[in-house]
Amino acid sequence: MARQNNSKSQQRHEATIEGVPVRSLPKVALHEHLDGGLRPGTVLDLAREAGVEAPAGTARELGEWFAEQANAGSLEGYLQTFELTIAVLQTRDALTRAARELVEDLANDGAIYAEVRWAPEQHTSGGLTMAEAVEAVQEGIELGEDDAEAAGRSIRVGQILSALRQGPNSLEVAELALDFRDEGVVAFDLAGPEAGYPASAHRDALDLLTTEFFPVTLHAGEADGLDSIRSALLDGRALRLGHGVRIADDLEIIAEEGEDVRVRLGDLAAWVRDREIALEIAPSSNMSTGAISRWGNRIEDHPFDLLYQLGFVVTVNTDNRLMSRTTLTREIAQLADAFEYTLADVERFQLNAAASTFLPVEQREELIDLISEGFDR
Ligand SMILES: [Zn+2]
Repeated sequence: MARQNNSKSQQRHEATIEGVPVRSLPKVALHEHLDGGLRPGTVLDLAREAGVEAPAGTARELGEWFAEQANAGSLEGYLQTFELTIAVLQTRDALTRAARELVEDLANDGAIYAEVRWAPEQHTSGGLTMAEAVEAVQEGIELGEDDAEAAGRSIRVGQILSALRQGPNSLEVAELALDFRDEGVVAFDLAGPEAGYPASAHRDALDLLTTEFFPVTLHAGEADGLDSIRSALLDGRALRLGHGVRIADDLEIIAEEGEDVRVRLGDLAAWVRDREIALEIAPSSNMSTGAISRWGNRIEDHPFDLLYQLGFVVTVNTDNRLMSRTTLTREIAQLADAFEYTLADVERFQLNAAASTFLPVEQREELIDLISEGFDR
């Protein structure tokens, strides 16, 4: 197999698999945060406009500051970075610009479809209502889609509205998501601290969404373990899991002989695998937040490959491109480097994602066709 990935991370945007540039491959992103995907230069511009003090004076320095804070190994440092991005996203224009650029950046990264999530309740301190904030983001998404089209790329993007696990607003956010169900919002999510804030605490919101047959994906199995995944599935009827990597806690390795690993799946892991509940995995993010610390802290330690080999529906995402200084291309390239993936493997991850989007089935099939055609080329 003619695999020739560049090993240095800064070169990963030029990475190839079997001679094909990874960036050119059609991709589907299921787990991208709007407030984690800003360009450093845009944060600077918006900070200036909003009168918010930025911790660095140039885009380059600010990009480095985000990466350092996010990887300092403290949750405090990590959360501080979002304080800044959220502080500068409090006006209609700022939200529209951020969404528009996010779509453009994803399209340049080869994405043909993405679902971007954010928490409207964090964007009202400048006087916007949550509904106005959703409209502003939708406007940016549509402008970004038009920009991409004009540049010869085709991308479509849906919104996922997140409510904060630690906050009191989940019912209101669920109602908001339903109000916009035919106007760009495709699903509901719970974000924020997982431990101590189970999905079951948001039963009113989750029951409403169930009654209305509205899709739910929940962050679970990232900062907390199997109980959190159980609650996401039972209380949230989640159709996908945000990260979900801790499902590997429910795997028991019985025997290991060279390449041959025999694994027993617990009932929960078997349910997630056999019901094809997609895992929205973001490897770099998982390394910096400690989500995979049980297995190690290098990409080679990530349970992604074990889950893939066992038949779980794994997908590749960035979570927060700004904080992790990453792209879809880079995430795929580093996995391919670590686990010797071929183009066929990478195609499988994209087909998994396409099949797990919250689009109607005929549109999912169109995506699947576009991916197959793109990989055949
Ligand atoms: Zn996330």
